[in-house]
This record gives sequence, C-alpha cells and structure tokens, in this order.
Amino acid sequence: MNAEETDVVLDSLPDAVVAAMEVRDAWRKRKGQQDGLEFLISDLARWRPGTAVRVAFLDGDDALHKDVADATRQITDACNLRLDFGESGGKYRRWKTTDTAYAAEIRVSFDKGGFWSLVGTDSTDSTISDPLNGIGGGPGQRSLNLGGFATHRPDRWQGTVRHEFLHALAFHHAHQNLRGTCEQEFRWEDDPGYVPTRDDRGVFVPDAQGRRPGIYTYLGGPPNNWPRNKVDHNLRTVESPDVIAGPFDPKSVMLYRFQPFFYKSDPSACAPTGDGLNLSDGDKRGLDLLYPHTEAELHRLGERATTALETLTGEESTANRSVFEQRVIDLLGEW
Ligand SMILES: [Zn+2]
Repeated sequence: MNAEETDVVLDSLPDAVVAAMEVRDAWRKRKGQQDGLEFLISDLARWRPGTAVRVAFLDGDDALHKDVADATRQITDACNLRLDFGESGGKYRRWKTTDTAYAAEIRVSFDKGGFWSLVGTDSTDSTISDPLNGIGGGPGQRSLNLGGFATHRPDRWQGTVRHEFLHALAFHHAHQNLRGTCEQEFRWEDDPGYVPTRDDRGVFVPDAQGRRPGIYTYLGGPPNNWPRNKVDHNLRTVESPDVIAGPFDPKSVMLYRFQPFFYKSDPSACAPTGDGLNLSDGDKRGLDLLYPHTEAELHRLGERATTALETLTGEESTANRSVFEQRVIDLLGEW
C-alpha cells in the first residue's frame, strides 16, 4: 500500500453549502419547536418511501455509469425506494450545468475534488447552494461527487459509491450518531512534545522521536487542510434529536476509515470493523427504518406529514412565506 492509499481524505461539503444548511436547519428547528413538529428536520430529509428517485451523470462514460448504478443495488435491495438511472440500451441519464429544470434529483459528477453528497432532499433544495463551485440543490448543480472516478477509482470504490449514495438517501455519518464513547476515544491533540513534521507531500507524520500528530494537526495539513472548527463540526458527536440514530455500528460503511493513530487505544472499539465495501446489517436496518415496507409504517409517516402540512399552511397568508417555509410545504405536499 503506498502513502497515497493510506491518506485519510474525509468527505465534506464546501463551507458555503454547510453554512446555508445551518441557516436553514436553525429555522426548521425553531419552527419545529414552536409548532410541536420536532420531527420536521429528520422527516423532511428523506425521500418519500415507495417512490423512484432519479439519478443523472454530468460526466464519465457508460461503463462507469453502469458500475456506479450496479454498486447502488445493494442499497435499494434493502429499502422501499428505487433509484432510477434512466438506463436505456446501455446509456444512462445525464444532466447539464445549464439545466434550469431538474433532469434528476441526484446529480452525480466526477469532476470536483473529493467524495461528498448532499443529504437526502437537500439534493433538490435550491436554498442550499455554492454557486461559485456549481454545487448545491439547484437543477444545474452537482449534488453528489465521486472525484477522479473517471480516471482512477480508489480501492474499495464500491464502498465509496455506497457511502455517498447513503448520504443522498438521508444517512448521516455513523460516528456522529453514536451512543458510545468514541469522541473520548479520538486522539484530538498531538503527543506531548510533538515537533510538527511533514512528509514530501506536506502530510503531518510522526516526528524523529516517534511522537505522533493529533487529529487536529493531521487534518489541518494536506490533503484535508481543515481548520479546527471544521474538524469539530465533522467529528464531534452531535447529540441531536433530528438524527435517526441506532446503536454504534462498527461495521457501517458510513464510518470513516481512520488510521490507528486517530485513536487512544489500538485496536480501538471505535475503529471500523467492516470491510468498507458492503453494507452492514445495521446500515440495512437503518435503510428499512427510513424507507419502510409495511403499510402501517407508511401510513404513520403519511399522517404525520399531513398534520404538519395543516399546521404550517393554516398559519399565515401565502404572501408572507419565507423560502424556507415554502420549501417545507412543498416537501410535505409530496407525501
Ligand atoms: Zn460521508
């Protein structure tokens, strides 16, 4: 394994996208508390169970499109949602950056750096946008990126495809949903006396005495270059009622594959034990929770959406609605 393959490149959305999400989520949270609709944030993230979500590609060839589509079958086999790639005679649906109407809800690209995806219905939320980079929920914007796949696929690329498509189906990172003690298990700080030392690519490495960089230092250097607040945002536990969380699942494909030095103990109980390729049983259970098959559960979710819609539309005239409010009403109206 060469150095490049051991690098930890974390998937993260552009800061402009995250900032827009935070503004929107703060509004939804306030609204939810005010109206007794606390489930709003998690419910609105998922696509309506039983429907087909369209996928389109910006670049890449037919063979790559087929491989990506094939890799997602493990996901759709485990839940009541279909992914429609528009396959016809070996050709797959495409989208363009000039589109003004949605060619697809999930708009895949291979031309940006890194791997990332908007979460669930954020993929069609035009208030979530990084216009400078063409990333966001608008029709001509990338919602899911598999950087470099058109020229070179990483080891376990199918696992990367599944990880990003699970985001696109409203999954968050398992390490933030944990019920365990993994935040305390991370080595946030450098070993005492660590002398900042970099390899020829600028990556922070142990110093001459074998003292190791901590997570803040390591992620502060290439290839991630994250400031501390971004590390906190992505790795600190979010104790939030909006996140549908199961027990900590070390086999989940949603876990980052950190190197051993990220943890205080080796082996760590918080380190992933899955193959990084296939969905775990926990991932499959999570999918079935989000996109249930049973009539009773579908009915319950539908009723909840109807109640929320009635609460929200009964309040004030259409003219006074903010873009956030209108978006929520549009989403609930699709149930
Ligand atoms: Zn991720």
